[in-house]
Amino acid sequence: MPEIQTLILIIEDELSIRRFLRTVLKAQRFRVEEADTAGDGLRLAVEQRPDIILLDLGLPDMDGLEVLSRLREWTGVPIIILSARGREQDKVRGLDAGADDYLTKPFSVAELSARIRVALRHTKRNPAEGVIHCNDLVVDLINRRVWLRDQEIHLTPIQYQLLAVLARHAGRVVTQRQLLTEVWREKTEANPDYVRIYIHQLRHKLERDPVQPRYLLTEPGVGYRLVCEDG
Ligand code: CA
Repeated sequence: MPEIQTLILIIEDELSIRRFLRTVLKAQRFRVEEADTAGDGLRLAVEQRPDIILLDLGLPDMDGLEVLSRLREWTGVPIIILSARGREQDKVRGLDAGADDYLTKPFSVAELSARIRVALRHTKRNPAEGVIHCNDLVVDLINRRVWLRDQEIHLTPIQYQLLAVLARHAGRVVTQRQLLTEVWREKTEANPDYVRIYIHQLRHKLERDPVQPRYLLTEPGVGYRLVCEDG
């Protein structure tokens, strides 16, 4: 239960989805503001300063990605995209444009709650936090060391960088492009296959069963997510 009432802004033109979100979120004691157009959404974001924005990409008056980039010009508020199934390209573009996460319609109450919990935790977390705990996995970002079930795990520099990026975004999806940019930086030859290869290597070091990973999950067509039980 949120202690202070968290305000969630829903920007979505479909009445049935707004009604579903409003019912579920109010039952979880969130405050809710609703906009059925991009114009109203942008205005409410400025006036109400929501703690989270749920943003539909298919709006009548403006492309949702345009709404996203206008919001990102002035606010770091967590933005979760609401996207139709099969629109992986939209999700990737949204995440690369600064969205924090996405929900694929139709989504369950459990998925919605988990995404919101992760988004809020990231807002409240001290950005300088140096040690990430994820179930039995501990990533020490200051000393660049990793433990699994109290055993130190030795990673190559690239394996470590990849895990560190996912750990800093724990619970949230990170796109292939974000990983390539953050891990391989200036190396122009960086290739999407690198990500797949190094994820495979990391799974062999971290997962009990690399074929059925518990930590390093693939988000098909989008990227990867480090999953921790508390969100
Ligand atoms: Ca829509």
